[in-house]
Amino acid sequence: MIDTENKFKAVVSHAKEYGFVFASSEIYDGLGAVYDYGPNGVELKKNIKAYWWKSMVQLHQNIVGLDAAILMHPKTWKASGHIDAFNDPLIDNKDSKKRYRADVLVEEYAEKRRQKAQKEIDKAKKRYGAAFNEQEFVTTNKRVLRYYQEADTAIQRLTSALESDDLKGVKDLIVELGIKCSVSGSANWTDVKQFNLMFKTQLGADAETAMDLYLRPETAQGIFVNFSNVQNTSRMKIPFGIAQIGKAFRNEIVARQFVFRQREFEQMEMQFFVRPGEELKWFEYWKKERESWHRSLGFKTEDYRFHPHDKLAHYANAATDIEFNFPFGFKELEGIHSRTDFDLSAHERLSGKKLQFFDPETKERYTPYVIETSVGMDRMFLAVFSKALEEEQLDDGKTRTVLKLPAILAPTKIAVFPLVKRDGLPEIAQEIVEDLKWDYQVLYDDKDTVGRRYRRQDAVGTPFCVTVDYESKTEESVTVRYRDSMEQKRIKIAELKTLLHQELDFRNWVERK
Ligand code: ATP
Repeated sequence: MIDTENKFKAVVSHAKEYGFVFASSEIYDGLGAVYDYGPNGVELKKNIKAYWWKSMVQLHQNIVGLDAAILMHPKTWKASGHIDAFNDPLIDNKDSKKRYRADVLVEEYAEKRRQKAQKEIDKAKKRYGAAFNEQEFVTTNKRVLRYYQEADTAIQRLTSALESDDLKGVKDLIVELGIKCSVSGSANWTDVKQFNLMFKTQLGADAETAMDLYLRPETAQGIFVNFSNVQNTSRMKIPFGIAQIGKAFRNEIVARQFVFRQREFEQMEMQFFVRPGEELKWFEYWKKERESWHRSLGFKTEDYRFHPHDKLAHYANAATDIEFNFPFGFKELEGIHSRTDFDLSAHERLSGKKLQFFDPETKERYTPYVIETSVGMDRMFLAVFSKALEEEQLDDGKTRTVLKLPAILAPTKIAVFPLVKRDGLPEIAQEIVEDLKWDYQVLYDDKDTVGRRYRRQDAVGTPFCVTVDYESKTEESVTVRYRDSMEQKRIKIAELKTLLHQELDFRNWVERK
């Protein structure tokens, strides 16, 4: 078993060793929090995106796609509030010179308090066994109550300080809570400053006339400014959605969690336009839909939790995160936000163009309200990859490293091996590859023993391996070996397509509960 402390390290090194993720420009010692996806990584990423896109666009008659440019008119970011408010509060430790997000320091403090409370609960559970009444314990045990209260008070004070832009209050809180730098161990903090996360660039060669631009910090605005274009051309009626997958850029202050927090990343976003007043109903609807989408990939229920926002963003009247149990604890994987008519109205004001909908049922014209579902592709990648990675103890005392990726997302679906490199077996294996490659990512491998070839495919998550042996010549059959159970079955070559079709059927996956 890989213990949790080493799990994150194992994930990073496995991702590199097997061609999933490399540090960007590694030969120049890398670029902070920017990553490249290797041959297996790009396949996994492409499959995640296809799974999302098909679930959102193909399965919903009232959701259409869009691919807007990364560069947008700078007024976009004035209207959206990003120029004025897309800031993170940063704080430096004077001794270690390490930079932190001030809000994250307080959030981590609160999380640690909650973990302490949970430990007390777990201890008591063990001690009292079946007689344990958790509800009563949580509401009466002094220690547990104190831990929860400390966590809640810290978050409440942080939220109100941030809401009133009281940066001194945030610093005072950090000092009061006794939060120390994890590197220097000291509480020698600078003042808290606001830092805008957008990357600036310029359009045009002439310094006089060049226009300041920003790399988009979220894909959503490309959807909002195209609201009327899309609605008119696709003849969508409210409620309807626009989906988009694309790059976003944020000059993150602290970026030390591999692809979890990058400066260049990809978002899979869907903005769902609804009648004003109906937004909270749709907010609940999309919470459920998105939760079951995540569950369909087969990870444990306890690996997900909803986390309603303590501090709502400037555009939202309700917001929750779907958090996932990453190797470094529960963190945001997807945000679901009720964005009101904030964005469309702001663009209407600044552009002077109407972004409205004439509702044929109510005979009213209005600016729609919006529910957003926004999931980071890279965070999805990390969630799937880190949960899938296992070090398994085998019956013969050996261990194997296996990446138990959902088969529908696996980079290679099937690997085909000739048992030996002679007597016509490679030719049969190649024929199988030639036949399957039109529908699936297939791999041919004839090096080393079959056992080692299995191990190689286990490590990159290939769900099925097929071995061609002497019987294949006379019986037209092969051995299929299943990655997770390591079970082997003899089947006819002609049945391989049916097997793959069943195991990789999109509908079967999506409808899994
Ligand atoms: P966080 O609180 O972790 O910074 P956020 O609340 O700012 O995230 P949103 O603005 O809601 O994130 O963005 C939607 C989604 O985009 C997030 O749920 C996450 O999956 C992804 N995302 C945001 N920032 C990053 C990043 N720096 N690197 C990778 N993915 C990101």
